[in-house]
Amino acid sequence: MRRVFSNGRVLTPSHAVVDGPIVVDGDWISQIGGVVAPFEGACETIDLKGALVMPGLVNAHGHTAMTLVRGVGGGLPLQRWLEEAIFPVEAKMTPEDIRAGVTWGVMEMLASGTTLVADMYDFPQAGGEAFAAAGMKANVCRVGLCFSETDEVPPGRAKECIDFVRDFKDSTGRVVADFCVHSEYLTSERIVRALAEANADFRRPVHAHVSETEKEHRECLARRGKTPIAYLADCGLLDHGGYLAHAVWATDDDFAVARAKGAALVHNPTSNMKLGSGFARIPAAIAAGTRVALGTDGCASNDNLNLFEEMHLAALIHKGVAKDPTALPAGAVLDMATVNGAKALGRNDTGALAVGMKADFCVVDFDKPHLKPCLDIMNALVYSAQASDVVMTVVDGEILYDHGEYPTIDAGRAEFEFRAAVKRLGL
Ligand SMILES: [Zn+2]
Repeated sequence: MRRVFSNGRVLTPSHAVVDGPIVVDGDWISQIGGVVAPFEGACETIDLKGALVMPGLVNAHGHTAMTLVRGVGGGLPLQRWLEEAIFPVEAKMTPEDIRAGVTWGVMEMLASGTTLVADMYDFPQAGGEAFAAAGMKANVCRVGLCFSETDEVPPGRAKECIDFVRDFKDSTGRVVADFCVHSEYLTSERIVRALAEANADFRRPVHAHVSETEKEHRECLARRGKTPIAYLADCGLLDHGGYLAHAVWATDDDFAVARAKGAALVHNPTSNMKLGSGFARIPAAIAAGTRVALGTDGCASNDNLNLFEEMHLAALIHKGVAKDPTALPAGAVLDMATVNGAKALGRNDTGALAVGMKADFCVVDFDKPHLKPCLDIMNALVYSAQASDVVMTVVDGEILYDHGEYPTIDAGRAEFEFRAAVKRLGL
């Protein structure tokens, strides 16, 4: 099947704009710009009416089913927020709740241009199936957790994590399974090392929280004699890369370790501000040559899954913190939200629009008062555009969101099941 998305303007990896069509054969981009030659087979033409085609956004750190607990515990500091507000509700969740929460989050992400998410949450089989059913790309994981340094609590968790990576299958190929440890403080060294050893066979980047709060960072130094990133690296967990969320308190040495391991830091500016965690030193990390991606975190600490908002905040806060308007330019922020996230998640075939890449993109309607005049496309996307300007989202050449409609999701049923799950959880 060929799809010709005509009359668009296409954002290229060099941040230039090419007028003309983007042609998709199956799930791949086969042509950008120019004149489309006659085609014998099945072909559908979609008129984009002058809108901008940009790479699908990559949410490199999220807990999608936390749509179910959106806003819960607002105003509490991180540890109290987790222990008093979030964990008691999460303890009641079932696979059905996760399916409903993920599908609801997928709808929010597709409507705001996100095509790929790194998802860390309970019941990843149910979550992974929900992503696959909707057609969205996701890196899912069984979260490596341990509440004791000496015993495996809960028992069997390390085996579950390894079995999940080995056994998870998605016939669409859009959802993959990765290893994950929640954090240095919520797992034991034995589990970290067990997952690192198992990953020698799979060679996957690993998902983890690191140095989110000053307290966590300092306690790790006291407990292990090293920072969370150094500790995970020394255990071998980052030997095949990683996507390390927050890194608010990461040091220059941590940046060097992450770079050497090919691991990316994932910046979550809204979550870090809402939970009062601090400002990650993102310009310093980039200057050190460390890859930095962008994420929303869960929408109980955000409280949405809107990467346009994250781009906007990331581009602004570092200029304010550094008192330097040249800090973190708009183009660097767009790369964080697209190609850097894709590479961090071990997906080198998405995150940029070029011939031979997967057809993962969103279409942004620039025929809006707040987008005119458009003197600089990067500035417009990062400072002026809103998530609601996204009119279409395409994954592997398949249209998953189209002007408020979801061709792969029964939106009415999704809302019914989401409401039922929220009620069941007593919220
Ligand atoms: Zn998180």
